[in-house]
Amino acid sequence: MAIVHVAIGSNRCHGRFGRPAGVVRAAIAALPGVVRVSPIIATDPLGPGTRRYANAVVALEWTGSLPDLLDVLKAMERHFGRRPGQRWGNRVLDLDIIAAGQQVVKTRHLIVPHPELTRRRFVLDPLVAVAPDWRHPMTCAVPQLTARQLRARLLRPKGRPRA
Ligand code: ATP
Ligand code: CA
Ligand code: CA
Repeated sequence: MAIVHVAIGSNRCHGRFGRPAGVVRAAIAALPGVVRVSPIIATDPLGPGTRRYANAVVALEWTGSLPDLLDVLKAMERHFGRRPGQRWGNRVLDLDIIAAGQQVVKTRHLIVPHPELTRRRFVLDPLVAVAPDWRHPMTCAVPQLTARQLRARLLRPKGRPRA
């Protein structure tokens, strides 16, 4: 059994669940094995999207493989009405596998930890809320950095060395 962290994002309304925060709440209720839930935060869009996002991170218990979990997440995205489209475009639901303990996966279809995790505050803020002491298995620092440390590094003004 692995604890897997999944990021949830929405920036489109849903006929039944309403505004993006309602979509995120409904996704949290529909995900299997959820054991921890971050607050739902509002963030500005990345790339060509135009509407603000609701974002959250959950921890869930998963007994299968990570590719199997990705299939479950993609099926959920479709079930919530997501249509294939532009990357980073407006979407009713986006579910990304952020981390799975110390597991590292690099295939054409799945990269874990998520490669953008360390650059995205809208992932690190809620991840810190559910797993502040999770250690990234691939940071160059020794010992490897925790979610809390990765967030602090992202927030530090560029070029300013650590005190
Ligand atoms: P980003 O990956 O930058 O957050 P995105 O979530 O908008 O962008 P999508 O269009 O949802 O990108 O997904 C593109 C593909 O990324 C998926 O079809 C999936 O196979 C792949 N992918 C690779 N690693 C992951 C991961 N850790 N979690 C979810 N999808 C992943
Ligand atoms: Ca994403
Ligand atoms: Ca995605």
